[in-house]
Amino acid sequence: MKETTLSIIKPDGVARGLIGEVIKRIEGAGFKIVAMKMVYMSKKQAKGFYVAHRGRSYFEGLADFMSSGPSIAMVLEGENVIARYREMMGATNYEAAAEGTIRREFATDGRKNVVHGSDSPQTAAFEISYFFGALELVGA
Ligand code: ADP
Ligand code: MG
Repeated sequence: MKETTLSIIKPDGVARGLIGEVIKRIEGAGFKIVAMKMVYMSKKQAKGFYVAHRGRSYFEGLADFMSSGPSIAMVLEGENVIARYREMMGATNYEAAAEGTIRREFATDGRKNVVHGSDSPQTAAFEISYFFGALELVGA
């Protein structure tokens, strides 16, 4: 099924010069980038993005991290792109992530794991609309 998902290259990935590496993998997999922008979230905006995680032990630290520098937000389109992009990212716990995945290769701790990807069509719809208006999605 053709889907869209929200991808973020997190502040650690941007700061470490991994934008090209991540986009190379996205394009190499045949995912279509239908929207892209650089965003520097405030802490309040980061908390709003991760609102489903409110109350978790890592929530404050996550919001601090996500507002610590610019990120790249992208909308990817493709067949089963939600699951396939998450497979490309690797598991949340990077030490358990499969060999060759972005997180296994580049994450440096549980929080600084370089990339974000939506985990369901419902979260994708919320997350895409958090960053992009309908008119910003090319070819929609
Ligand atoms: P994913 O990004 O794989 O969808 P989650 O939605 O569970 O993972 O968590 C969102 C983000 O919160 C993670 O990518 C990571 O940056 C951070 N995070 C999750 N769990 C932890 C943890 N135990 N300690 C520190 N940071 C965490
Ligand atoms: Mg998640």
